[in-house]
Amino acid sequence: MNDDLRNELLLLRELGFTHLELAVDRWPVTEDAPASGQQPTANEPELLADLERLAVVCEKCRLAKTRTQVVYGVGNPKADLMFVGEAPGRDEDIQGKPFVGRAGQLLTDIIKAMKLTRNDVYIANVIKCRPPENRNPEPDELDACRPWIRRQIEIIQPKVIVTLGRFALQSLTGKGYSISAVRGQWLDYEGIKVMPTYHPAYLLRNPAAKKEVWNDMKKVMAQLGLAA
Ligand code: URA
Repeated sequence: MNDDLRNELLLLRELGFTHLELAVDRWPVTEDAPASGQQPTANEPELLADLERLAVVCEKCRLAKTRTQVVYGVGNPKADLMFVGEAPGRDEDIQGKPFVGRAGQLLTDIIKAMKLTRNDVYIANVIKCRPPENRNPEPDELDACRPWIRRQIEIIQPKVIVTLGRFALQSLTGKGYSISAVRGQWLDYEGIKVMPTYHPAYLLRNPAAKKEVWNDMKKVMAQLGLAA
């Protein structure tokens, strides 16, 4: 069994699936199939799309009952840089895309200031469904949703992850970091460099903190070899 398939099955087990309906025609055996039992490894866009098909019907926590739709993630499946936020808000819940509201516009501006576009990076949240009234995610909701972001990262294999705000940082690292204590310092997630910074929604309330976020982004740009 190849590693991609094994990881997919492990994720499904983690998410509570106990059996699968196999559509055999999705796995055609052709004359060109590699010899010696080797399976061709799926590419990142396909793996992400397969995962999305599972995520959009997820009912692992109470947020499934109140969401309009699952907000899975958008961007370049082979991105070197990934932004991980907290949870969809009202606009994201309606549009099905992360960071499309006011905070999202600010994130888009930050990405542009780095001389990148949203299509160069990958953007996702640690919680895929909007918490009612934009309340903070509960610990059991973060636990239930964590396998999705872990697998997205595993597929994309970015060089750098920027966590936006406390919940993204804590949920991904599994540590109770205070954002103000570790902001701007490199951390590690499974061998990938993590730069914790403030959430754009916080910047909307505290514009003076934009300077610190820009300092953090300059470190990210230097790490990725992007000119400031
Ligand atoms: N805030 C987040 O953390 N994520 C979004 O997608 C939108 C706002």
